[in-house]
Amino acid sequence: MAQQVATNITFHDGNVTRDERKACMKQTGGTVWFTGLSASGKSTIAVALEQVLCQQGNPVYRLDGDNIRFGLNKNLGFSAEDRAENIRRIGEVCKLFADAGVVTLASFISPYKADRDAVRALHEEAGLPFIECYVEVDLAIAEERDPKGLYKKARAGEIKGFTGIDDPYEAPEQPELVINTGNQTLEQSVAAALEGINSAGLCS
Ligand code: ADP
Repeated sequence: MAQQVATNITFHDGNVTRDERKACMKQTGGTVWFTGLSASGKSTIAVALEQVLCQQGNPVYRLDGDNIRFGLNKNLGFSAEDRAENIRRIGEVCKLFADAGVVTLASFISPYKADRDAVRALHEEAGLPFIECYVEVDLAIAEERDPKGLYKKARAGEIKGFTGIDDPYEAPEQPELVINTGNQTLEQSVAAALEGINSAGLCS
């Protein structure tokens, strides 16, 4: 994990309380962290969910694996160290969005449990809601879908360190939500995610 480098810095609190922010945003907000194999359906579910929540009038924002690597994390690759730093930075961004009262949908393979637990801890320490949603699918189904042709490349040895092929995926042990996309439609998956978000009170 990253070390604090700067010295002589002091956290400057604001005057807006969390209750005041909630009244302003008309919702609690928080982070929904979608984790799972590539092609499990994380991005597809988050995209559909974002639209539903936006149409309902709930402030929502989506953070997505590849998108973040075009900007904030363009200097990171896929080594274990870079993957950890990738998730650490995204975790901090999620915390800011959640603190702002936005329902934040984060779709990242995030294969290592320790990295996901660190993001959870960041939220818990700050008293912010965090829902870990395991988007579960059999590797064989993900490989058959292969929407970006990445499994094919990984099997051919053209991509090294690909999750599920030659890099591990550590499944969550106690996620708040599990959505198995191997045996349900996108509509069913979105409905399940929405139910989890509503029962955790993020939209109210
Ligand atoms: P990820 O973001 O996990 O890498 P994607 O969302 O990019 O995965 O791709 C998942 C693929 O699986 C898409 O082609 C999508 O249409 C398909 N799919 C089939 N069933 C579902 C479902 N129930 N939920 C989400 N995606 C599904």
